[in-house]
Amino acid sequence: MEKYTINDFNKQFPNDDACLEWLKTYLHPDGITCKQCGKVTGHSKLSKLPVYSCNRCGGHTHPMSGTIFEHSRTPLKQWFYAIFLMSATRCGISAKQLQRELGVTYKTAWRMFHQIRTLMQSTPHTMSGEVEVDECYIGGPKPGKRGRGAGGKTPVFGLVQRQGDVDAMAMADLRASTLYPIIKERVLPDSVVYTDEYNIYDRLESHGYSHKRVRHHAKIWVLGDAHTNTIEGFWSLLKRGINGVYHAVSQKYLQSYIDEYAFRYNHRKDEQPMFLTILGKV
Ligand SMILES: [Zn+2]
Repeated sequence: MEKYTINDFNKQFPNDDACLEWLKTYLHPDGITCKQCGKVTGHSKLSKLPVYSCNRCGGHTHPMSGTIFEHSRTPLKQWFYAIFLMSATRCGISAKQLQRELGVTYKTAWRMFHQIRTLMQSTPHTMSGEVEVDECYIGGPKPGKRGRGAGGKTPVFGLVQRQGDVDAMAMADLRASTLYPIIKERVLPDSVVYTDEYNIYDRLESHGYSHKRVRHHAKIWVLGDAHTNTIEGFWSLLKRGINGVYHAVSQKYLQSYIDEYAFRYNHRKDEQPMFLTILGKV
């Protein structure tokens, strides 16, 4: 995939009208069906409003209605630019950086940041073939506070199909009774499941999976194909990002950070620029 640069962006979206035109064409690829006329008719944009009007009856269509842009006073090009910025780097940018780049208040930047995040939420994947399942801990102890997990860290559980997609979620605990329903919901029977030595995975075979285990303690890191390098690669990406860019992540927002990283990971091989993938979800 060619990298989608800031020049590409400015060429494709020189102003608010170009953004609105893109949105209209995206939502109505075969033309706008006028509700009053009951069919596809020609439409023209009103000069001062983000509205298209039917050439036959004058009925209005609002491309922004039902999108994250609908109730915002921020110009559309600013929104598109924010989405571009959040997709342009491998590990994303913070709300603070967004504020600087857009020249808006922190409150506005923060709100945009979280709304764009909602477009990057993931839905559970169905996995088969070779699947790696693993757990890690994110975050650190807060001064004077004792949290759940190891020293105030939050456990995160992840599954990845090799060459495929990742699912990861912040958990309240890593008990077998919590994790097995997730595994059975997402991993098809007869898959080969690779794990570390954590004892809850002992029961995988009795659930119909072929189980291969990495013996980290025996210092046998890679035993043939018995490794969990794929999911560990995702963990290191996630940890680097959270520690490097976002600093202190509150538990409440941890899942949305994880989703953002999973989204990036799962779209890493897309043909179209990630920017347009995110925009396609508005
Ligand atoms: Zn009409």
